[in-house]
Amino acid sequence: MTGSRKLYVKSFGCQMNVYDSQRMADTLAPEGYVETGNAGDADLIILNTCHIREKAAEKVYSEIGRMRRLKEAAAAAGRNVRIAVAGCVAQAEGDEIIRRSPAVDLVVGSQNYHRLPDLLARVARDGKAVDTEFPVNDKFDRLAAPSPAATRARGVSAFVTVQEGCDKFCTFCVVPYTRGAEISRPVDKIVAELSRLADAGVREVTLIGQNVNAYHGVGTDGRTWSLAQLLERLARLSGIERLRYTTSHPRDMTDDLIAAHRDLPALMPQLHLPIQSGCDRILAAMNRRHTRADYLAVVARLRDARPDLALTSDFIVGFPGETEDDFAETLRLVDEVGFSGAFSFKYSPRPGTPGAEMDDQIDEAVKSDRLIRLQQAIDRSQANFNRKCVGRTISVLFERPGRHRGQIVGRSPYLQPVQVEAPASLVGQIAAVTITEVASNSLFGALAKALAREPAFAGTGA
Ligand code: SF4
Repeated sequence: MTGSRKLYVKSFGCQMNVYDSQRMADTLAPEGYVETGNAGDADLIILNTCHIREKAAEKVYSEIGRMRRLKEAAAAAGRNVRIAVAGCVAQAEGDEIIRRSPAVDLVVGSQNYHRLPDLLARVARDGKAVDTEFPVNDKFDRLAAPSPAATRARGVSAFVTVQEGCDKFCTFCVVPYTRGAEISRPVDKIVAELSRLADAGVREVTLIGQNVNAYHGVGTDGRTWSLAQLLERLARLSGIERLRYTTSHPRDMTDDLIAAHRDLPALMPQLHLPIQSGCDRILAAMNRRHTRADYLAVVARLRDARPDLALTSDFIVGFPGETEDDFAETLRLVDEVGFSGAFSFKYSPRPGTPGAEMDDQIDEAVKSDRLIRLQQAIDRSQANFNRKCVGRTISVLFERPGRHRGQIVGRSPYLQPVQVEAPASLVGQIAAVTITEVASNSLFGALAKALAREPAFAGTGA
């Protein structure tokens, strides 16, 4: 171990990138790197990029410009700062980043950040390093585990990547190109990671993957296990009281996974299940490989298994060729399903995807208008779902102090933030809360004496 150096990691994009950033910090900790929240103090700056949102690459180049100025100021003061670009934009752009931005020392793709110590050594020797290969099943085995103190500092809810990549090739999406084919971590590695988290005080774990319900890892018996089998095993770990998983594809909602929502009390009654459009013609153009009816059938079976299930989704408006009638079908679907929330975006072409080559691109003004109407429908649906919680007593996992003195904030089983006047000593614990009021995005409640029969299980599972 060398002397202490400061590491600043900036994450763009989804929860998977936040998890990756934490694991990069864990991997660099044995090299003497200590995390800082101030880029101006850092000896190593890592920009962990995401390619999903519009103009992702442009945003990364402008952030590199900002970091270059910090690097120049440090150099003038006699301090050597390295800049690394990681994640999906790094994967997609590779050498081009160093060509366009000479201030960048290192480019590392989303599958290779376990090699950061070696790559930094290569930078020290050769001046620059680029690594955007796709090694198979390599990264997770070689990543350093976080210390118990680092885990505790990250809170009582943790994210754990169990699956990466995607084989679906939706025509709007870059993930299959930037993250590669689906790979799943072996069950024993995931069990070991959750056990470590439980020992450090983590109570809730969200299993993450670009297509998490396509999970097919090697089980403890040497056979391939499904996500349902993995969840059943993890639900038996002592200390982990809540499990969730995201993000799922409707086609991979298998019978055993739907049954897990009935049978596993630790599996929270909340599911993020993207549909993207309510119109079959658009779903086909998106290569989603499911219809509106398929989606509604899955929802019906899930609600049969777990009647109080909170469903969220993703929508894209203005996909090439989308007519006003097609869009109206999306609005109808939102009303029909009754989502507890959803993310919605205007379609924007991603270079290299089939959608970007389609002729009938939609006018920006039309997309904006549809997005506003869709978000109004989603807001109505969310408010309706939240209103139904008033008067109920539900379990809340308290995560942190609130903004006001005497207030703490936690999450309901349905993932809503819940604010309660209660002692800070409850942070890290689960308590029963009676919901008294709702605002647009959060619930307010009071500690209850006991948890009423909150989990409305339809089945007879454990
Ligand atoms: S299933 Fe999800 S990650 Fe895979 S291509 Fe489609 S949108 Fe992208």
